[in-house]
Amino acid sequence: MRIVVVGGGPVGQVVARRLANHDVTLFDRPVVKPAMSLVLSETTVTQLHALGISLQDGVELQSIHVSERAVPGSMVLSASELGLHAFGQVMCSHDLERAFQSHQPTPVDTRAVISVRARSRSQGPIVCLDDGTDVVADLVCLCDGGRSPLIDALGMAPQYRAFGRSAVLMRIEVTRPQAQRAFERFTATGPLALLPLGGARYGVVWSLAPEQADRVAAEPQILLNEIQSALGELLGTCTAITAPTVIPLIERWLDTPYRPGIAVFGNGAQTIHPVAGQGLNLALRGVSRVMEAIQDGSLADLDRCVQTGFDAWHRDRAQTRAASSLLEYAFAWNHPVRRFISGGLIASLDHHIGAKRWIAEAGMGRYA
Ligand SMILES: Cc1cc2nc3c(=O)[nH]c(=O)nc-3n(C[C@H](O)[C@H](O)[C@H](O)COP(=O)(O)OP(=O)(O)OC[C@H]3O[C@@H](n4cnc5c(N)ncnc54)[C@H](O)[C@@H]3O)c2cc1C
Repeated sequence: MRIVVVGGGPVGQVVARRLANHDVTLFDRPVVKPAMSLVLSETTVTQLHALGISLQDGVELQSIHVSERAVPGSMVLSASELGLHAFGQVMCSHDLERAFQSHQPTPVDTRAVISVRARSRSQGPIVCLDDGTDVVADLVCLCDGGRSPLIDALGMAPQYRAFGRSAVLMRIEVTRPQAQRAFERFTATGPLALLPLGGARYGVVWSLAPEQADRVAAEPQILLNEIQSALGELLGTCTAITAPTVIPLIERWLDTPYRPGIAVFGNGAQTIHPVAGQGLNLALRGVSRVMEAIQDGSLADLDRCVQTGFDAWHRDRAQTRAASSLLEYAFAWNHPVRRFISGGLIASLDHHIGAKRWIAEAGMGRYA
């Protein structure tokens, strides 16, 4: 089969490798992306290992501490207590890119893709390049991210839901690190995640109202003070090691992420709230479903196989999207009664191993 993959982010890289037994061309235009601390679930880590990608720079995630600011009690999800090897790995997105580049990389064609046409009766799908070349394929995998003009031009009409939130990203160092443990702290202003990057370093992802995010990002010392105040003495004293970055958050999805000869994966098919660290994990579970369906089918049956794969993933996507949005909305409501109830619920869940197992396995996509 002749395959064209548009976009060489993590999703496009995985798609190209999953289809490496076919004739694959990967187009990607070089852009500078912000460094993000990503939680890769154990399912994702296993998928990457199976593709020959080892994640030496990742930190194995052994426990997750969940708490509500200024409310006593917490819950600790511990991989060993739940009989799991690990919850996954925390990794900087730039290290993940490097891991893709250093393990038998798929050659990248840097010509810009300017439009894509779906399969017609007489021809396969066509990818048009900025130098005037047209490439005809059997399948075009669009993995070109969440702001894809190619998808818009195909008339695929994404749906949008504004969260009214922005993510503030930053790296800090702390004086009392806890090895291989992530922290999810529900603050009155929005969920704050601290992801272990090794040693005393943590990646901060804080979901805030846009005006507050812009204000604290403009004054890194204010941001640091607010992080310190949200964490209390949990990790000792915090120091900034990078400047903050602000990313506006929006939920965006395609109801049917395929057309004849075209399949859309990754942020192009859906972007979800990062509170549960699921965007890339969910996307790669979708890639797996579609790839499994393609392997089982024939070329003549390709479009039906793509549809079957997406149908098999649909429930996972709906549940993961809903859970991520619900976490944001529920915990962003700054009311003392809500905080008291959720703090109590978190503390009581700490004694319930069955519930903790369910939460951990849901996070790894095992119920999908
Ligand atoms: C704050 C934040 C925290 C997150 N944390 C997590 C987490 O902990 N765990 C998790 O699983 N997910 C997380 N995510 C989600 C995750 O980052 C995304 O799901 C993932 O990066 C999507 O990858 P992608 O390959 O679809 O898109 P991208 O990484 O955007 O890649 C798209 C690629 O396509 C290329 N491209 C675009 N247009 C063209 C064109 N016309 N021609 C050729 N190439 C083109 C671009 O240059 C780019 O390289 C987080 C997201 C945010 C915002």
